[in-house]
Amino acid sequence: MSIPRLANLIDGRLQASHRDTWLDVHEPATGSVFMQCPASDAGDVAAAVEAARRAAPAWASTPIDQRAHHLQRLADLIAARLEEFAALESRDSGKPLSLARRLDIPRAVSNLRHFAAAIIGWGSESHAMETGAPGSGAVNYTLRQPLGVVGCISPWNLPLYLFTWKIAPALAAGNTVVAKPSEVTPCTAALLGELSIEAGFPAGVLNIVHGSGPDVGQAIVEHPAVKAVSFTGSTATGARIAGIAAAQFKKLSLEMGGKNPAIVFADAELSDANLDTIVRSGFANQGEICLCGSRLLVQKSIYDVFRQRYLARVRALRVGDPDAADSDLGAMVSQAHHDKVLGCIEQARHEGGQILCGGGALTLPGRCADGWFIAPTVIEGLPSAAQTNQQEIFGPVVCLIPFEDEAEALAIANDSRYGLAASLWTQDLSRAHRMAGQLEFGIVWINCWLLRDLRTPFGGVKQSGVGREGGSEALHFFTEPKNICIAYGAPPVPRQDASVPPMESR
Ligand code: NDP
Repeated sequence: MSIPRLANLIDGRLQASHRDTWLDVHEPATGSVFMQCPASDAGDVAAAVEAARRAAPAWASTPIDQRAHHLQRLADLIAARLEEFAALESRDSGKPLSLARRLDIPRAVSNLRHFAAAIIGWGSESHAMETGAPGSGAVNYTLRQPLGVVGCISPWNLPLYLFTWKIAPALAAGNTVVAKPSEVTPCTAALLGELSIEAGFPAGVLNIVHGSGPDVGQAIVEHPAVKAVSFTGSTATGARIAGIAAAQFKKLSLEMGGKNPAIVFADAELSDANLDTIVRSGFANQGEICLCGSRLLVQKSIYDVFRQRYLARVRALRVGDPDAADSDLGAMVSQAHHDKVLGCIEQARHEGGQILCGGGALTLPGRCADGWFIAPTVIEGLPSAAQTNQQEIFGPVVCLIPFEDEAEALAIANDSRYGLAASLWTQDLSRAHRMAGQLEFGIVWINCWLLRDLRTPFGGVKQSGVGREGGSEALHFFTEPKNICIAYGAPPVPRQDASVPPMESR
């Protein structure tokens, strides 16, 4: 039986790579190949950029409400096929079907709807009028204009969720797009590409090129006609992209790795619901979420009691067939990533960590016997400086770290080259505000985790990111301000004070 194949979307047409070569796409739960995607190269990227360049002027001058209409239509089409998208996302990434159905696909729909609505509201701000200073004889206004062709590169952990998080603001703001989903999980982006034709996007406005990072992603970053790149992925790849983009003075938004702390104070309300959230913050999506809290800091006075309640919950998590309704965790996304995470657990043992639960691969019965599963793993006894507490593992592995007081919690939490997100569990409002101000992270959740309002800025500091996504931050990134100054009266009268330059020469 032949394996089905995905297509690139270039210039409004679904097509194979010009070199007709293919990459296998695996189902992580079974280890089998169920799809192939084009193994494109710089030639396909060049064709996509050329199509995007041709489409750019007309798309930029398309009225905002029409651009928004196309995004809404695309959202409607995805929502109407939610089950199909969720099944494909789960099969492609190994995540539980229930999670794809509850989180990934609804969030992708929300991303499109959010930026469709946001661009309409933002239109007036983006053409803000500023009066000139009294006596200047001029009036100013600012145009925020699209950049032209932009590149969007997304990772495998939340495939459609993060793909739409980038293309929606880029398209809403009037740019044309060349996008690359991860070669590991290309399926839902390809289906979105097909639906974008039905949604009425003009040819060349959205182009999707499949293939490997070095062959396709790098070609997008290197192409001189691509004016900006929005990237989500590892810090190592982000650094490579930044090096290339810097030489071309290209605008960059980088959302990268994390090693996030969850900090539990003795005064936290440890209700069942809160404990469930703390567990979820470490193990949701098999720990393959950049926002997962992989360092669990617990105040010493409650450490033993907390540890017992926490471990009982982690041991109860069900790792299973992603299709099963009762699976809490599915399979790791690829054999390579599965092996990398197991290597990190081995390293933790080597560093002297005690494995409190999990600690290895799981073999499931039946159709998932060859899948890439790992047991939820909790480790203790390692100092903050240990490699296990410093490197991003990106799997179902959490380290427990006791702390004495607020100062120590802060020092441990900030002892990281990453700075994406922290969560804080306390009922002391003053402490919550004090800590939030001093935690070196782009996002701080207090008594919650992964509670997202799409209007808020999203991103990290240190090696977790450069720039912010979300709401108006994304629309700012995908536009360039232009000041326009119109003289309407007599030229300004020269000033007496020679040290102050006249208005027009500053
Ligand atoms: P990678 O950095 O390996 O890949 C991310 C994307 O970049 C993929 O599409 C990849 O293509 C592409 N890519 C790889 N090499 C290059 C290159 N040289 N030039 C241009 N593009 C390239 O990350 P992962 O896919 O492994 O994703 C996991 C990482 O993403 C984790 O570190 C995680 O923390 C981070 N992440 C960060 C988030 C945030 O918001 N801060 C959110 C989600 C994840 P391909 O896969 O086809 O090789």
